[in-house]
Amino acid sequence: MSIILVTHDLAIVAQTCDRVAVVYAGRVMEIGSVADIFRRPAHAYTAGLLGSVPSGQAARQKLAAIPGAPPDLSLRHDGCPFAPRCAFVAGPCRSGRPIIVDIGPGHQSPAFAPTACSRRRRARRHDHGSANRGRGPHQELPARD
Ligand code: SF4
Repeated sequence: MSIILVTHDLAIVAQTCDRVAVVYAGRVMEIGSVADIFRRPAHAYTAGLLGSVPSGQAARQKLAAIPGAPPDLSLRHDGCPFAPRCAFVAGPCRSGRPIIVDIGPGHQSPAFAPTACSRRRRARRHDHGSANRGRGPHQELPARD
């Protein structure tokens, strides 16, 4: 039996799910195991979501937020729907069709600008950046009950 859980509560996701699809503007931005998504986020939106989760260490810090607002879905948008809010946006992100990038076994993410997304993944290894401050791939997953 499978259960599909739709939620913004990342703690519940970490505690109850095996696989995660991160959706933005009605499109899957990244799909992978809980460990993939929480420890090795490949997409800028996933990293921004994780970075906005309050942590005990950041209790006295201002919460990180993803700048901007979600797109108006009543309008047509070409390219990556996250482009207006992405710190790694490049020219190809604003048009064209995505390619599906294999990040690892069972871990995929669409990319409109592979070079820009690759830069994001490289940067993630070294510095989660202002949009990704807080929870990062090296932090522990919430414990499962
Ligand atoms: S780098 Fe481009 S394709 Fe990747 S998330 Fe940012 S805007 Fe989207």
